[in-house]
Amino acid sequence: MFLVGDFLYLLKNYPRSSENQLLKVAELTKEYLKLVLDNDNILRGEYEIITQSRNRGEIFNDYLFCVKCKIRKSINKFEQIGNHKTFSKICSYCAEDNLAKFNKIVRNGD
Ligand SMILES: [Zn+2]
Repeated sequence: MFLVGDFLYLLKNYPRSSENQLLKVAELTKEYLKLVLDNDNILRGEYEIITQSRNRGEIFNDYLFCVKCKIRKSINKFEQIGNHKTFSKICSYCAEDNLAKFNKIVRNGD
């Protein structure tokens, strides 16, 4: 039961990771998760609320992990992109850095 609680914590706090990835992190199998949820209404309710919010793309915590500089930063350091308002995988600082490098390459190419 405690392990499923850990999994729900991950599910809630890492909305960008897939459920399968998080199951692996929590070292749980889908079958075990299902078994526990089928037998625990409280956990099941929590799981459903989290899953629904994930499906709507809601973000629970205010921090995201930048895949480039490998630092967790507050969410306002990340651009929202596309119609689904998903957050960029890299922070604004790294995005600017990328853009600067790109501009340099373009300039040098002239
Ligand atoms: Zn970054």
